[in-house]
Amino acid sequence: MVYISVKFVAFAFLNVAANLGASTSHSTMTDSLLPTNRGPDAISGPDSTCDLLETAGFKALRPNTAGYNAREAEYYSLSARMCPSCIVQPKIAEDVSRLIKFLATNTTSNWAVRCGGHTAWGPAADIRDGVTIDLGLMNQTEYDAETKTAKIQGGSLWQDVYSTLEPYGVTVPGGRTRGNNFYSSSVGFGCDNVVNYEIVLANGELTNANANENADLFKALKGGSANFGIVTRFDMRAIVTGDLYGGLITHQLNATDKVISALSNFVDRAADYQAGSAFSFWSYIRGASESVIISALHDATGTADAPAFAEYAAIEPRLSSSLRKASHLNMTEELYFAKGFRNVWFAHTVVNDPAILKYATEQHNAFVASWKAEVGDDTFSLYTPFQPLPSTLFAHGAAQGAAFLVFEGGPELEAEARRRMTAYREAVKRESVRTGTDVPFEYLNYADKTQDPLRSYGADNVAFLRRVAAKYDPEGTLRRRMPGGFKIPEED
Ligand SMILES: Cc1cc2nc3c(=O)[nH]c(=O)nc-3n(C[C@H](O)[C@H](O)[C@H](O)COP(=O)(O)OP(=O)(O)OC[C@H]3O[C@@H](n4cnc5c(N)ncnc54)[C@H](O)[C@@H]3O)c2cc1C
Repeated sequence: MVYISVKFVAFAFLNVAANLGASTSHSTMTDSLLPTNRGPDAISGPDSTCDLLETAGFKALRPNTAGYNAREAEYYSLSARMCPSCIVQPKIAEDVSRLIKFLATNTTSNWAVRCGGHTAWGPAADIRDGVTIDLGLMNQTEYDAETKTAKIQGGSLWQDVYSTLEPYGVTVPGGRTRGNNFYSSSVGFGCDNVVNYEIVLANGELTNANANENADLFKALKGGSANFGIVTRFDMRAIVTGDLYGGLITHQLNATDKVISALSNFVDRAADYQAGSAFSFWSYIRGASESVIISALHDATGTADAPAFAEYAAIEPRLSSSLRKASHLNMTEELYFAKGFRNVWFAHTVVNDPAILKYATEQHNAFVASWKAEVGDDTFSLYTPFQPLPSTLFAHGAAQGAAFLVFEGGPELEAEARRRMTAYREAVKRESVRTGTDVPFEYLNYADKTQDPLRSYGADNVAFLRRVAAKYDPEGTLRRRMPGGFKIPEED
């Protein structure tokens, strides 16, 4: 039995981009509009913070206005919407810098930072009593053909990034829809391809982190999540690309053993086929009689019927297939999920071993049966995807499992859903520990708020993250004032 050795990787919130030239030429906020520093006692709560922000020239979107409602409705998951006291939308990095200085020195209110707003849970990219800094207007991408670098503003969505880059014949490994991506086998995670972060630190200073400048911060940002500042631009190495070949194929649940075998063998051979990407998800889709298995198979060089997919191809019957040649953007769009439901997700990593994958699918089926019987069959969907973490990323291949419950209901039902999803996760954990297939690494992008993905990087990496946070935010401003998202564990 092999274990992966978990090195310091993971994922940084990469949704980003901007016509940087154009956007730096103007700002809606000027220093002259800022009030004098009245000290933190100048206000008594988040509502007065919003008043102060407006007095200072920051446009604050207020509850029950069209702009506010539209942005709140754009969170992927209902569970992530927190209804903040107001939303502020900076346009350029300097706006973010002024905003952080202003909030930190003139108010006592907390804040959240929002990029794509795709975290399944809250509070992460939104905040109940406080100010949400929504980077959604910082959504431009520029391509520098000389350095083959995409400069992507900090609030961009991958679909916009990909469509801007497509005419140049390049793309970035940004995520199928988010970080683990079609190109992971050859180029790694999205964060592995960031060559520079432009970032506003806790004291409002705008700086850069790259291999030569603030190199410790550069490393920490590759997986350290919302602990070091607000990234206003991601500069990423571009990949020259044409169309991909791939799509989704669907099988009935009784093909479980065959699909697990195909996936597991694919992971074992991934190092020899770095153009390939495969993942399979057991999917109960609301109202269906039983789950189906959807497999996403892609070849980044556009080659049809690559031998590594032959085992998948031999599984009959297929319920559907969308295999075709198409752009990175088009393949990504196929993987979108509907917004506006409550969501509970979890992440778990195991050794690439068919028996533990099979066990997880049995837990998936048991969950579906009980939720259907007790809550109703047309109110929810449950996805249990297995994504390879191939040996090109780690010392040995592993399967990154997750489960997403997408459902209708109120906060009480969400509490019950989280209880059951936790039981599902713990059952898989117990079995993987029992069988020696457990890998402690928790993939941050899919982890629930009850998980601790930063701790899963190991004690040395946690100590490193603490040192970097203490250096760049010595007063612990972000820990205290920006409480959402995964924070560095305080205790060993
Ligand atoms: C339908 C769907 C498909 C997905 N597919 C994939 C996939 O293919 N591969 C994958 O790896 N993941 C995937 N994910 C997971 C996704 O990558 C994570 O949810 C990720 O955090 C989303 O990024 P975001 O920009 O929307 O983050 P947000 O939800 O906006 O923010 C996440 C956290 O980062 C902080 N933050 C956001 N922007 C910044 C910034 N500029 N500077 C500092 N902190 C910031 C926020 O405060 C928050 O704590 C998927 C999620 C969904 C809902």
